[in-house]
Amino acid sequence: MSERPLWDGIEGIVFDAVGTLIKPEPSVASAYAAAASRQGVELSTDEVRERFGVHFQSDEVHAGQGVWSTDEETERRRWRKIVAGVLPEVPDPDRAFDELWDHFSSPRSWRCFPDVVPTLRALEQMDVPLCVGSNFDSRLRGVVGGLPELAAWVDHLVISSEVGYRKPHPSFFRAVCDRLGLPPERVMCVGDDVENDVRGAMRAGLSALLVDRVDRAPAGLPHVANLTALVPARLNGR
Ligand SMILES: [Mg+2]
Repeated sequence: MSERPLWDGIEGIVFDAVGTLIKPEPSVASAYAAAASRQGVELSTDEVRERFGVHFQSDEVHAGQGVWSTDEETERRRWRKIVAGVLPEVPDPDRAFDELWDHFSSPRSWRCFPDVVPTLRALEQMDVPLCVGSNFDSRLRGVVGGLPELAAWVDHLVISSEVGYRKPHPSFFRAVCDRLGLPPERVMCVGDDVENDVRGAMRAGLSALLVDRVDRAPAGLPHVANLTALVPARLNGR
């Protein structure tokens, strides 16, 4: 993709977190399988991955506030349901939930993708206003603050549980633009989820770019293979 269309009119960027800047390591499936195993239930990571794919899609909304609404308690309830759905065999589901909630609270359970540091460094040199916008809960502050590559960003987080709405709700993107101090047409959303990060952002008036690390972007959707493609060539050592 050429430099001009990517940056045309763009003054600020919001990055999605999970799958875009950070990934769980070990994998989500491994962490769930280990939690099951500690209660004597042996499951393959393939089985867990398949179940997680099903249950992660189920939405949980803040009562009375409609689709994509959320808060801390809603997120906790949502994850409790996901854990119970993925690991129905464990004798103590509350224990499994507590262990997994704590596991994913820890920065030690997450890694930055290798393209994150060079990209952020280059964009910071360009004085591009940046923030991280994530469907997550307050645990993300501890995760980002505890990862040396991202620690400086801990004050630049827009988190769904705090906004009150999850992506792709337009209120989430309004909160992002407010944080950046820019109108939507000046902001680009960069993320790995077609609906939450790209189509939802576009409906809210932002530009958007899919980070397609696994080469399965739908035809016609603007995408890059990794984050370094965001950096204009003159800053990219080319
Ligand atoms: Mg993501």
